[in-house]
Amino acid sequence: MNVIETIIFRLAAYSMIAGSTYYSASFIQTLFHRLFGHTRRIGKIYEVHVGGHHAQYSGERMQSDRWIATERHITLYYAIPFIPMVLTAWSFLPLDFFVVHIGSLMLTIWWHIYLHRQYHLRESWFSRFNWFRQKQRLHFLHHWHPRTNYAIVEYKWDRLLGTFADSVRFGIDLERQEAKGVKSSSD
Ligand SMILES: [Zn+2]
Ligand SMILES: [Zn+2]
Repeated sequence: MNVIETIIFRLAAYSMIAGSTYYSASFIQTLFHRLFGHTRRIGKIYEVHVGGHHAQYSGERMQSDRWIATERHITLYYAIPFIPMVLTAWSFLPLDFFVVHIGSLMLTIWWHIYLHRQYHLRESWFSRFNWFRQKQRLHFLHHWHPRTNYAIVEYKWDRLLGTFADSVRFGIDLERQEAKGVKSSSD
């Protein structure tokens, strides 16, 4: 292989590592949310997620002027499910690939947290994008029907797990909520 081919090969491999890390991490997040966020397996996570976040944003109060932080003190719990993936990557991947894996994991976690906050902000810059509004609606459906749409960003995992719900199936609820207008938590 000449130098150009080597660089192209490396870049392609880095993209594959970054992409598979993104989808693996979003799958782990979806499963963790379903298995621990909405069951009492670990009481503290359940109380903080359902009693905190879901209680703050419920019914018609899906948005607020400022993000209401309720889960900061259990952030470490959310890091735990990623440990096996990181250890596996560490034992198999060369160092540069591992660095790409960690970088992608950090970006993925940040993107999930960031986008979730944007969903609940009354005035988000992202509201101009159709893709954003669609994901936001699916997340609001999760708040109204907590047994659906556990993924925050990649709802294809919910389709795979059989927990996906869209506005067609829950059309009446969405129309009712939207007719009333999604009100602020600070009202
Ligand atoms: Zn939830
Ligand atoms: Zn939410």
